[in-house]
Amino acid sequence: MRVAIVLFTRDLRVHDQPALTEAVRSAEQVVPLFVFDDAVLERFAVPNRAAFLLDCLSDLDAALRDRGAELVIRSGDVVAETMRVAREVGAQCVFVSEDVSAYAQMRERRLRGACEAERLEFRALPGATVVPPGDLAPAGADHYSVFTPYWNRWRAAARRKALEAPRRVALPADVGSSGLPQLADLVQGSPSAELPRGGEAEARLRLDRWARDELQHYGRMHDDLAADATSRLSPFLHFGCLSPLEVVERALAEDGGEPFVRQLAWRDFYAQLLSANPQTSHEDLRSRGGRWRRADEELAAWKEGRTGYPLVDAGMRQLQREGWMHNRARLVTASFLAKHLYLDWRLGAEHFFDLLVDGDLANNVGNWQWVAGTGADTRPNRVFNPILQAKRFDKAGDYVRRHVPELAEVEGACVHEPWKLGLLRPGGYPEPIVDHTEAVTRFRRASQRTS
Ligand code: FAD
Repeated sequence: MRVAIVLFTRDLRVHDQPALTEAVRSAEQVVPLFVFDDAVLERFAVPNRAAFLLDCLSDLDAALRDRGAELVIRSGDVVAETMRVAREVGAQCVFVSEDVSAYAQMRERRLRGACEAERLEFRALPGATVVPPGDLAPAGADHYSVFTPYWNRWRAAARRKALEAPRRVALPADVGSSGLPQLADLVQGSPSAELPRGGEAEARLRLDRWARDELQHYGRMHDDLAADATSRLSPFLHFGCLSPLEVVERALAEDGGEPFVRQLAWRDFYAQLLSANPQTSHEDLRSRGGRWRRADEELAAWKEGRTGYPLVDAGMRQLQREGWMHNRARLVTASFLAKHLYLDWRLGAEHFFDLLVDGDLANNVGNWQWVAGTGADTRPNRVFNPILQAKRFDKAGDYVRRHVPELAEVEGACVHEPWKLGLLRPGGYPEPIVDHTEAVTRFRRASQRTS
């Protein structure tokens, strides 16, 4: 009897899950395994993502039970635990999904080595991205560093077909599982008040509803902050509750799907960038020799949404409240930290990573570096003006009023420049911590010195 182990990581679904499908196809019995990995918990566990992860695991367990198995839970060192389960059940093979961070790549190498040492077959399968990292490369390089040529290749690339969920998964008898822990066993602190619920079932419902009712308006509406017209699928994509390939197939089947699919190509772009440059989780991709300032008070004001720039503060408070922020607000808040305050992008990326339920190393550092001018942006000196951005993307001021209660009574677009009303600190709202023109001049001088 051939027995396989599928080690789930952040591929928490049964539909279009190549590692699971391949295990079911090639073995009579399969152990779906999830290991609470000490190393990951130590470095990355935060309440929002831990709470979402527990939802995802409980939903995956339910989907596997519907198919005759269950999710086996262990904790400890992920490689040691996988090999322990393999010995307990007499497995012949181990399947995982490929992933891109330095840690994930090291985990894959260690697993491969451990399997070789015990003469088990080991296979790493695609599924985390639409196009696997490394599949597309320009002449003379092993990955793309600029998005537009990547997108042109990506949209023309052949895609595998999304896989059906397996109908049955046969689990060997008597595999011990520790069951799911409580949130408090994993992390200290509480999740954001308006955190979404995780899991594949929820993800598929959202995708269906969104593709049917909203996708057609995406191209026109996705930058409108108050309309909140993006898919909000990012945490589900991060934890693999949805296959990005299936999302693309679904979107392309509807009218107006292309602008949305382009965003999914950005996701693949950053995955291949991190996969080829794993050190960029903490190092500049293209160092410009900048000397970031240190200003703890200003950093704290930014984190707490007290900069005196209403759009920046609205974004930062949305992040606190929902564990999520609209992309346009991410761009403006990140640019404000790196360019107006001239503080190190790593401080901002770390704060985002502490709170974002979709916190994803490749997307977070890729976007932060793009905004800070150390990454894949071809216009590193661009500065987002927080007032013009607000007037353009939150025309009536509703996004700001929704997230900054001190300004809830200020009418219309005046909410973006409350100091112009002649009111000193309306509703106790702070004055700007930095003057826009002076800040931009400081940034431009610094970037001239370094470029
Ligand atoms: P939609 O607009 O509906 O887009 C669909 C999907 O496309 C998203 O779910 C996401 O998977 C992908 N996508 C969209 N925009 C981008 C982008 N710019 N880069 C990469 N993928 C994209 N996204 C994360 O998933 N995790 C992060 O940690 C993260 N950090 C970010 C930090 C900064 C400073 C910035 C500017 C952007 C960051 N993003 C991150 C990208 C983007 O803001 C979010 O993916 C998006 O806001 C999620 O909302 P949505 O699912 O409604 O997006």
